Amino acid sequence: MDFDLTEEQHMIREAVREFAQSEIAPRAREIDEKSEFPADIFRKMGELGLMGLPFPEKYGGAGADTISYALAVEEIAAASGSVAANYNAHISLGASPIYLFGTEEQKQKWLVPLARGEGLGAFALTEPHSGSDAAALKTRAEERDGMWVLNGQKMWITSGSVARSVVVAAKTDLAAGSHGVSNFIVPADAPGFTPGKDEPKMGMKGSPTSQLFFADCRIPKENLLGELNQGFKQFMITLDGARISIAAMALGLGRAALEHSLKYAREREAFGQPIANFQAIQMKLADMATELEAARLLIYQAAALKDRGQRFTKQVAMAKLFASEAADRACWQAIQIHGGMGYSREMHVERFYRDNRLTLIGDGTSEIQRLLIAQQLLKEM
Ligand SMILES: Cc1cc2nc3c(=O)[nH]c(=O)nc-3n(C[C@H](O)[C@H](O)[C@H](O)COP(=O)(O)OP(=O)(O)OC[C@H]3O[C@@H](n4cnc5c(N)ncnc54)[C@H](O)[C@@H]3O)c2cc1C
Repeated sequence: MDFDLTEEQHMIREAVREFAQSEIAPRAREIDEKSEFPADIFRKMGELGLMGLPFPEKYGGAGADTISYALAVEEIAAASGSVAANYNAHISLGASPIYLFGTEEQKQKWLVPLARGEGLGAFALTEPHSGSDAAALKTRAEERDGMWVLNGQKMWITSGSVARSVVVAAKTDLAAGSHGVSNFIVPADAPGFTPGKDEPKMGMKGSPTSQLFFADCRIPKENLLGELNQGFKQFMITLDGARISIAAMALGLGRAALEHSLKYAREREAFGQPIANFQAIQMKLADMATELEAARLLIYQAAALKDRGQRFTKQVAMAKLFASEAADRACWQAIQIHGGMGYSREMHVERFYRDNRLTLIGDGTSEIQRLLIAQQLLKEM
């Protein structure tokens, strides 16, 4: 595979890096400390065309490819994990299923405003009693008087309390297991839909994650996404795509940890010399850089396969698993390289560590990625 970036990919990376470093990075610590959702940053990202980056222009997007999208997520995450988390959920989870499975009418009505940055999209699959075992969800949707009526509860929904629209998974045939699930587009102002409190979290504190309550929530019949009882397949495909961007988010956080460590190792002196002179520190830097480079290649491979329309379930599970765990190790070592200062809220590296921890859990845990990889390997035998 040829992983040289095209001129357009270079341009997108540079433009997003400049924006992220000048507009997001200086506010990242405050966003984290105040658990502040920075709505104005998302408005600016909309003006720059970032909120619909990988969607065709006819749906309000910028028509960029998946590698460009991964580059954008990496740059935003290197500035603020919280902003990247909402951006990632908006495109990969909130807007993508509408693009992939929506009718032309649904795309015009729901995707176009999301891609133009007129509001955030979200995706509600997880429930209090079902996460990894997604098919065990209990939220129900029934047809009544020509409307869909939803009842149930969701949990851990990124942007759930601030979204313009949420794609919600619900049971439409109780006896059919995973073949009895459908997805629905629920606008924020749907009667009977109430977001709960934002979860207090270890990291990604500026990215609201909420419970959602549906009590006789009535939505029009035409808000069924695509076909009835195809929801499980739809969210499996959606999650494959989302794993590219969560892996890119981990890469951005890991890269930021490495960059801060390189700078600190050159500046900090011990025993009369910069700590960068010590081989123990050099070994850590070398391992961090090597693992992040390997993660980058796995991400580009999965993105390239997706753009070619080839299967990428195994490759993206590998990319997500490896990138999140490589970034975890990099952020951990960054704290060690910073010594006592690494443990201080005054430096950024402890935030990178806390923020990145999510990437080993969201969009399928590391354990689930290993299961997916093994299942694919065994199928190939
Ligand atoms: C900050 C944040 C944002 C999120 N955003 C969203 C969102 O926008 N939309 C959404 O729908 N969800 C979202 N989630 C939910 C997330 O996808 C789930 O937390 C995740 O899938 C794990 O589910 P769970 O928390 O129920 O853990 P569980 O499924 O209960 O797992 C607990 C542990 O058991 C392990 N485990 C479970 N099954 C197996 C198995 N078969 N084999 C081996 N180990 C297993 C898991 O790996 C984990 O270690 C978010 C979560 C967080 C923390």
